[in-house]
Amino acid sequence: GQCSLVCPTGAISVRDQCCDVFDLLDDDSVTTVFQIAPAVRVAIAEAFGLPPGTNVEWKIVTALKRMGADYVMDTRWSADVTIMEEGTEILERLREAKAAGTLEKPFTYFTSCCPGWVNYVEKVAPDMIPHLSSTRSPQAIFSALAKTWMPKSRELDPKSIRVISIMPCTAKKDEAGRKLLERRPGEKDTDVVLTIREFTRLIRRTGLNLAELPDTAFDTPQMTLASGGAQLFATTGGVMEAALRTMSAITNQDPQPLPPFEDVRGARSIKETTVHLGDLGDIRVAVVHECANVAKVIDMVRKGTCPYHFVEVMACPNGCVGGGGTPRGRDIWKNNLGARQSAVYDIDARMPIRASHENPEVIRLYEDFLGAPGSRLAHELLHCTYEDRSGAGEKPRARKIFRLVELSP
Ligand code: SF4
Repeated sequence: GQCSLVCPTGAISVRDQCCDVFDLLDDDSVTTVFQIAPAVRVAIAEAFGLPPGTNVEWKIVTALKRMGADYVMDTRWSADVTIMEEGTEILERLREAKAAGTLEKPFTYFTSCCPGWVNYVEKVAPDMIPHLSSTRSPQAIFSALAKTWMPKSRELDPKSIRVISIMPCTAKKDEAGRKLLERRPGEKDTDVVLTIREFTRLIRRTGLNLAELPDTAFDTPQMTLASGGAQLFATTGGVMEAALRTMSAITNQDPQPLPPFEDVRGARSIKETTVHLGDLGDIRVAVVHECANVAKVIDMVRKGTCPYHFVEVMACPNGCVGGGGTPRGRDIWKNNLGARQSAVYDIDARMPIRASHENPEVIRLYEDFLGAPGSRLAHELLHCTYEDRSGAGEKPRARKIFRLVELSP
C-alpha cells in the first residue's frame, strides 16, 4: 500500500514514490537512468540484515538491473563535477578578494550541495543567500548532464530519458522540484527521487533480498567513474576535504594528493582548520553539521567577525550518512552512523583516483561538452540562483522543519 513520508512538524508530507518508479520501469518508451548517491551504498545494509556500513554498491546495481533499469550510474561522478565548478568558483572569488586586499577580512562562502541547508538559508537566514556557492548539488548536476550530454554522446532521444535518484535524503525530493532548476518551464531534470527507505521497500516489493544478490558493475565509465573525494561527500567534512584536495593541487601546483585531512573528519559539530593555497596564502575553513550548529557561524558573518573563507554545511547529523531517508533504528546513534562514516573513509582510501580534477571522465566531460569549469554552458547547466522564501515580515520558522525524517516503517 501507499506509505507517506511525514515531517515531524506536520508541515510537509510526501507520497511514497515506489509506484512511480515501477511505472517508469514498465514503460518501454522510457530510458531509465538511475543515479546512486555516495551515502546510499554504506547506509542500506542493516535494512537487509547485513552489518551496518557494509558497502553494497554492486548489489544495488544487480537489484536495479533485475527490475529492468536501463542505466545504473553513480552520483559520485557528478560530485567530482561539483568540486570542479565549486572549487573554480571559490578560487576565483578568493583571487578577487586578494586583488582587492580583503582576504584578511573574509567574505565567507558556504557550500550549497545540501538542500536541507539551502532550504534553511532561503527560509530562515535569507541574508546568507549572497554567501551561498552558486554551484548545484551533485544530484542536480548529474540530472542536467543526463538530459543533455548523455543523449548526445550515446545517441539517445533526450525526450525518452527519465532520471531516478536514490538518495539518503528527504530534502532531495524538494530540490528535484525546484522551479529555479528547470531549463524550460515544467521540465524537470530529476524525475523521481527515492529515499533509501523507499528504495528498501521497492526491493522488498520485487521479492528480492539485497543481501543475497551477486555483484554487478555500474554502467561505466561515463557518468560513473569517480574519485575518492567524491565518496567523501557522504559525510560531514567530506565536501570540504574533496574541495581542498583539488584547490590545493591547483594552487600549490603539487602533484601529490593531500593526506587525509583529519581536522575536518569525525563527528564534532563544528570543525575548523587552515590550509595553504599557493599565492593566496593561508585560507581558513570550517565544517558544520546540523543546522542548529550553524547559527554561531551565521551570527559571526552578520557581525563581520567570521574568520572563515569557506564553510561546508550539511543539515543532517554526521552528514548524509545520517540523512532523514536512511534506515533508522535503535542502534543508529550508538553504532550505525559511526560504521557508515568509517566505511566512507575506507572506500576513499581504496579508490585509485583520489581527487576530482584527476578523474578522466570529468576531464572528458569538459573536453567533449562544457569547455572548462565555469564556462558559459557550465553556468547554464550546473549553477543556479536562490530565492528568499522567509515570507516578508513573518517571524523565522522553527528550525525543526529542516530535520525531516521518514516516520513510516
Ligand atoms: Fe540531504 Fe541531509 Fe545529506 Fe543534506 S546532509 S543532502 S539534508 S541527507
